Amino acid sequence: MSVAIYPGSFDPVTLGHLDIIKRASKIFDHVIIGVLNNTSKTPLFSSEERVNMLRDVLCDIDNVSVESFNGLLVDFAKQKNTNVIIRGLRALTDFDLEMQMAQSNRMVAPDVDTIFLSTSLEYSYLSSSVVKEYARYGVDVKEFVPECIVSKLLDKMKGQ
Ligand code: ADP
Repeated sequence: MSVAIYPGSFDPVTLGHLDIIKRASKIFDHVIIGVLNNTSKTPLFSSEERVNMLRDVLCDIDNVSVESFNGLLVDFAKQKNTNVIIRGLRALTDFDLEMQMAQSNRMVAPDVDTIFLSTSLEYSYLSSSVVKEYARYGVDVKEFVPECIVSKLLDKMKGQ
């Protein structure tokens, strides 16, 4: 069975992420979404909230599961018995960082490979940061995130 991990912050999940997940789920038998519980970043949503939002949004896709993880991605991959990591590429600006991450992961775990899926054109400028910035200033974000995330974002912003 081919299994791949799609790791990220997903703070919150956007339609760009969703597009990559749907496409990856057609390539692999099973895709594990790894929600990074990164102590060096201060996310808007807790890792539990991010996991639950992804589970809600992905409930119709049978071969995708969602989990949070701490520490090194390659250790999480080993724990899940896979050596395939999926990342999405938007613009050239993603390339440097993604390349560096893929190479450094291979330095510590040579059997782990990263597969890049290129963004769909309509999502090429979409990121969780942009969505958060828009929501903060009252811009309607329904074109950028799944419907159920819109109200969660607005509630979060009100609470801030
Ligand atoms: P990270 O903090 O690890 O970059 P993100 O949640 O921002 O986590 O992104 C997770 C992955 O999804 C990354 O590979 C990122 O490049 C990719 N990604 C984010 N937004 C898009 C998009 N609009 N189209 C394609 N890939 C995307």
